[in-house]
Amino acid sequence: MPDEKFDLLSAVLQLYEKAAQYIDIPSRIYQSLKYPEKVLKVRLPVRMDDGTYKIFIGWRSIHCSWPGPTKGGIRLGSGVTENEIVALSMLMTWKCGVLQLLYGGAKGGVTVALDDREEKLSEEQKQMWRERFPYKMSQRELKHLIYEYIEKISPIIGPRKDILAPDINTNPMIMGWILDKYSSIVGYTEPAIVTGKPLSVAGSEGRNEATGLGCFVTILEALEYLKNSGGLPVSGSDLTFAVQGFGNVGSAIARLLHKNGFKVVAISDKDGAIYNPKGLKIPEIMRISNSSEPLTSYKEAEVINRDDLLTLPVNILVPAATEGVITKENASKVKAWLIVEGANGPTTPEADETLEDKGILVVPDILANAGGVTVSYYEWVQGLEYCLWSLEEVERRLKAKMTGAFIDVLAKKSKHKVSMRRAAYITGLERVVQAGLARGKGI
Ligand code: NAD
Repeated sequence: MPDEKFDLLSAVLQLYEKAAQYIDIPSRIYQSLKYPEKVLKVRLPVRMDDGTYKIFIGWRSIHCSWPGPTKGGIRLGSGVTENEIVALSMLMTWKCGVLQLLYGGAKGGVTVALDDREEKLSEEQKQMWRERFPYKMSQRELKHLIYEYIEKISPIIGPRKDILAPDINTNPMIMGWILDKYSSIVGYTEPAIVTGKPLSVAGSEGRNEATGLGCFVTILEALEYLKNSGGLPVSGSDLTFAVQGFGNVGSAIARLLHKNGFKVVAISDKDGAIYNPKGLKIPEIMRISNSSEPLTSYKEAEVINRDDLLTLPVNILVPAATEGVITKENASKVKAWLIVEGANGPTTPEADETLEDKGILVVPDILANAGGVTVSYYEWVQGLEYCLWSLEEVERRLKAKMTGAFIDVLAKKSKHKVSMRRAAYITGLERVVQAGLARGKGI
């Protein structure tokens, strides 16, 4: 869960304001895009297995519906806050703009009020509790929480209105429940209400790996760009990678890197990190992770402090865990010369300035991790049309889309002589502004 000291919303707003300076935006549009169109806050009573009731709090933030219906994942966790959900919905708008998807941005999340017992816990114990949530809940409790959440937000969601997806601590099983609950509300099966579903209920081939594959494509594009601009000191199997996070995104990236002959020398999860400068055997680590053993039980590596992974002597760093991990404290110690953001918001604005001063190329989240929403878009299209595409079809489209977006952002970078992050924001924002203008929102 995010570092409580890191204010993602003000970071995202700052980036918006700076990008807006490069575009001619009517004041009405500029002001509108600073805020979400609507945020629904819901209270969710759930009967726990011990017979007591707990009230959970959830939100759905819809940032901008000008380019089309809105789209965004839902996350679960005790650290989830309204501001974080609003910030992530805004990020989604720019991300869909960068990828030229006919979507605006949304996000949802559910947290839980700390009860009396939890108030008595020490900060360290609370942190442990937060990191384990929601797996502390039984499957029945979790399902009831999700059903309650969908029922409460049902007035503002819909297959042509606002479409849901997985995010932190949510998975295909939960997406299947969302499909079921929403379908029972409307009275027919509606596959296009949610993406990231299991294949058996109109999921898409390739969705699970989509964010990782998209990120991998941007890594290759960034290496090509560095090579062409004379900034690639080593290449191929000599390149070294550190991947932070070994969940859906991080593990897929590590697997693809390994499969394609690159050397992943360090990986981490919330419980620790492992490092071997000669390279890690990712399939073996996958086996360990799938059997719920700690990563640190992998024998052929040194166990290091979790956060030290970020400052290892590697060429490429892929933060693929959570927000606010590259900070003003550790940014000056980062040794990688390429950072590809698999996670949303891993770099604080202060850290970003330091990385730029150091000449590190940063491929920002709204470009690097957009493979997930892109294949979600494909899943949604398949759902609307009641058809299924092959894995080859999905991957071919995804690769072309990611490459196209990378080239668009690069063009803005060279036009305005700005960082990749600024260029990506300008690219996304410009498209959303154009949609707003076309709909008369500037007048
Ligand atoms: P996940 O819950 O599957 O995995 C998160 C991983 O990060 C876990 O291995 C966890 O142990 C690890 N982790 C958490 N805090 C850590 C820390 N401080 N240091 C090291 N490891 C830590 O989540 P995910 O779906 O892989 O998402 C990861 C990030 O990618 C999030 O920021 C999410 O918003 C973003 N993202 C995900 C998708 C997607 O399709 N899943 C799409 C776009 C963006």
